[in-house]
Amino acid sequence: MQPALIKTIVIVGGGTSGWMTATALATILKGRYQIKLVESDDIGIIGVGEATIPMIQLFNKIIGIDENDFVRATQGTFKLGIEFVNWGQLGDRYMHGFGKIGQDLWTTRFDQYWRKMRALGRAQPLEQYSITRMAAKANKFMPATDEVANSPLNHIAHAYHFDANLYARYLRGIAEQRGVQRIEGKIVHVSQREPDGHVDAVQLESGARVEGDFFIDCSGFRGLLIEETLKTGYEPWTHWLPCDRALAVPCSSAPRLLPYTRATAHKAGWQWRIPLQHRIGNGHVYCSQFISDDEAAATLLSNLDGKPLADPRPIRFTTGMRKQGWNKNVVAIGLSSGFLEPLESTSIHLIQSAIQRLINFFPDQGFNPVDIKEYNRQSRFEIERIRDFVILHYKVNQRSDAEFWKACAAMSVPDTLAHKIELYRARGRVLRIDDELFTEDGWLQVLEGQNQPVEAYNPLADLQPTDDTAAYLESVRTVIAKCVNVMPDHEAYIAKHCAAAKVN
Ligand code: FAD
Repeated sequence: MQPALIKTIVIVGGGTSGWMTATALATILKGRYQIKLVESDDIGIIGVGEATIPMIQLFNKIIGIDENDFVRATQGTFKLGIEFVNWGQLGDRYMHGFGKIGQDLWTTRFDQYWRKMRALGRAQPLEQYSITRMAAKANKFMPATDEVANSPLNHIAHAYHFDANLYARYLRGIAEQRGVQRIEGKIVHVSQREPDGHVDAVQLESGARVEGDFFIDCSGFRGLLIEETLKTGYEPWTHWLPCDRALAVPCSSAPRLLPYTRATAHKAGWQWRIPLQHRIGNGHVYCSQFISDDEAAATLLSNLDGKPLADPRPIRFTTGMRKQGWNKNVVAIGLSSGFLEPLESTSIHLIQSAIQRLINFFPDQGFNPVDIKEYNRQSRFEIERIRDFVILHYKVNQRSDAEFWKACAAMSVPDTLAHKIELYRARGRVLRIDDELFTEDGWLQVLEGQNQPVEAYNPLADLQPTDDTAAYLESVRTVIAKCVNVMPDHEAYIAKHCAAAKVN
């Protein structure tokens, strides 16, 4: 018997993941399938998730949206990286900037020459060889341009900060125009067919039944289909990422509109600061084993740059991943598929890459177990490598002022991460495994920014005469400084290209 043709796709949930999935599928599938999205106004969306990484530009390109229009509609700002405060030791400050560090010219990586010259006192701090870090520091922004050949201006990599509620609304407008049918209502029952247990419909409080052949679970942490119905199971990572709560609060804007996210480590967690055009998004992610909710709230409120615009909103979570992102005829995307705290702003990226994978393994007729297995293998690989990168920030700290940080420094980490740290400590080598998300330059910036000692540099850096190496580093540094000089101020760039309507 031929497996049944898939005709109707039902997306459960209308948060960032639901509307990103709906918009992408409506664009790519070009009306060949019926797409329905069910969301409940009463339940609402999580509404945090305001910082992104540069890959989101690819998503915008696929769905065909104009950058300025999107930034304007979401009260967005531009993001060149994340500044980490107090992560190595109290008082430390470094940035993980997007894009390249330096310019590869000779045999080994740029940072190996830098390391050699730094030891000789003939190199400046690493940040001075990164255009995004220097631009962020100077509060400058412009997108990459290829108008000047071989210029660092070609390498500016940027992402966005945006209001998650406005983003969902913006995408909804596009998805509905492209044929997605939105159904408002609370799902009270999920029905499964015999004999294979595939989901065949969701039933709303109103009594209406929404039937489908293929279901995408974007229902948030609860995982209405993937967990509550299919009992897929969850793999917790709290032994490596023990933070389990967050408090989120917006505050009024501060005078300078910074082109970067800030992550400030506190006593038992860390605080995010995300500048938007109309407000600043803030939140304190913390470990309830080491700090009370009241103290966490007090810490958050005493570290705001503006007046709080609401009471702190509590959120609870368990870091980890769903054992299978795809089970039977249900694919979990977004919070229903797992959660890593937002330290490196990766959740929205994970939504985007799950959509890409779904497209790569799109089931036209029935469901092929081989495809499902490969989808799940790739999902696991991706999130585990990101997990390691997030754990790295906790593991390589030298803070002796707080029990939480001492416990993080002492914890054992996944073998994959231990191997990377070991490689780095020996010869400053940074490793990117297959096509994992974070680049060598990303790993380098965190390891170096958090004071990890390196025994020696790659001996091949000695193949170049020392004076030539010094001159080479200096030329990279001065060209970057000149480029940053001509870049516009971040706020001026927004005012000219994508200022949103003022909110009172
Ligand atoms: P939700 O937004 O929770 O949406 C769930 C949807 O399901 C809603 O529409 C709801 O109405 C619907 N639903 C649920 N149950 C039912 C039902 N019974 N009937 C009908 N509808 C139902 N990500 C980043 O990339 N960058 C960040 O800076 C970032 N910061 C974060 C900070 C915190 C504290 C947290 C917790 C997350 C953060 N994230 C961040 C992650 C990001 O918020 C999520 O990945 C993103 O918002 C996607 O959420 P979602 O759509 O999966 O779930």
